[in-house]
Amino acid sequence: MEQEPQHITEGQAKIQTCGKVFYNPVQEFNRDLSICVISAYATKVRQENLLCNKEPNVEIYKAGQKYEGGLNILEALSATGLRSIRYAKEIPGINKIVANDLSVKAVDDINKNIELNNVSHIVSSSHKDAIMLMYEHRKEKQFDVIDLDPYGCPSMFLDSAVQSIKNGGLLLVTATDMAVLAGNTPETCYSKYGAISLKVKSCHEMAVRILLQCIEAHANKYGKYIEPLLSVSADFYIRVFVRIYNGSYKCKYTLSKLSHVYHCTGCDSVILQPLGITKPNEKNDKITKFSLPTYSTIPSKCEHCGNPFHVGGPIWAAPIHSLEFVSDVLNFATGTLGTYKRIEGILSLISEELVDSPLYYVLEKLSGTIKVETPSMIMLRSAILNAGYQVSSSHMHKTAIKTNAPTKVLWDIMRSWEKIHPATQKRIADNKVALAILSKEPEERHSFKVHPEAISKTKEKGLVRFQLNPLPFWGPGSKARAMVGQDKRNKSKKNQGKRKREECGEN
Ligand SMILES: [Zn+2]
Repeated sequence: MEQEPQHITEGQAKIQTCGKVFYNPVQEFNRDLSICVISAYATKVRQENLLCNKEPNVEIYKAGQKYEGGLNILEALSATGLRSIRYAKEIPGINKIVANDLSVKAVDDINKNIELNNVSHIVSSSHKDAIMLMYEHRKEKQFDVIDLDPYGCPSMFLDSAVQSIKNGGLLLVTATDMAVLAGNTPETCYSKYGAISLKVKSCHEMAVRILLQCIEAHANKYGKYIEPLLSVSADFYIRVFVRIYNGSYKCKYTLSKLSHVYHCTGCDSVILQPLGITKPNEKNDKITKFSLPTYSTIPSKCEHCGNPFHVGGPIWAAPIHSLEFVSDVLNFATGTLGTYKRIEGILSLISEELVDSPLYYVLEKLSGTIKVETPSMIMLRSAILNAGYQVSSSHMHKTAIKTNAPTKVLWDIMRSWEKIHPATQKRIADNKVALAILSKEPEERHSFKVHPEAISKTKEKGLVRFQLNPLPFWGPGSKARAMVGQDKRNKSKKNQGKRKREECGEN
């Protein structure tokens, strides 16, 4: 039965869909952010090209105009064409955008929407299997930017994507199969992403790091490697923005950017074990020496609570953002974007994140493990700073604590806290983990005196740091189905609280 066409306005685009094609309004944030990222990337590429005289220094680029020397973008799974149309109308410096979809109906919609928005000079539709289309661009006419926003797991598209992207090109990848990536089915995660996920409290960051190692593994096969520019966990998905470079020699560094994750089954402590080591050659520091680590640093049982470990990963253990690029992206976030406040808040929060401290602790989990009253975030952050270590929040969890302090110091801080706020004996009586941790005296009595740097600057400025409540249409939707109207509302209702149940093993 023919359905009434629906009209949707988002950003500078007006689109029409018959309702059989996937449109998810909650993804507006994803599309707004992608516009800022590609705009910042276009400017960066232009500066690089000007430096090596690859491009004439013409006028300032304007959005909506076609530029011969501009970016060639592929939106591999386009659905309504909304994203491509917004890119054409809102990103300056574009030559061409290919909006591809496997469904005839979707391509029909894309064509109508290209016409409706007067962007046929920039956007063209394509009706192909995304993987085959990308393989056709392996050797020639490679893309500057490829956007992969599939339903669920993106890994099947990665082999063709890394081959059909130019040297230094930008790959945007979304994954929505968070239950798999967050440790509910580690065996499925291994088969899809080549890494074992774990039910750790920092499961969202681990998910991002598993996806990054997966992209790196695909790139490495062709003598390519990644540079993560920005990695985001939002709503029901993760999204990473990475540059892909050619360079077989640089692939030798990959091993030292990956780590296995040892996760204590008792107290949730985590130890990272790098897969490789790089160090400068003693005689010539321009030559790097590559070697393998020994596993002597990993105890057979957790030193804090005596429980055995699960081993997960490998994960990407190198930085997941380029802070310089994040600040460039912030410059492109303007008030005209529908989700501007959220973008400003998240990017500001990301720019505070410690880039060299993978994963994070969760405040309530630390206190919950030893059954004590939870200290305030400022108090715990102060104790870490007072002990001489760095601390930051993470945009991925409201009460995340990223720090370069060893876990041993964290537990010592918690023991010091327990001295002031004793655990109830009744609550810890048959809790072996709490008893094991609290049976040791703190090596040092840590100070909880408020440290001047303990308050996050984004919090002080009152920026939107975390999304408050899920919106009515919140959720990943279902594969290639209409998600506007009654169907979507019913599904939303059925899925209420599902994420909470699925994530981090809270099912
Ligand atoms: Zn433990």
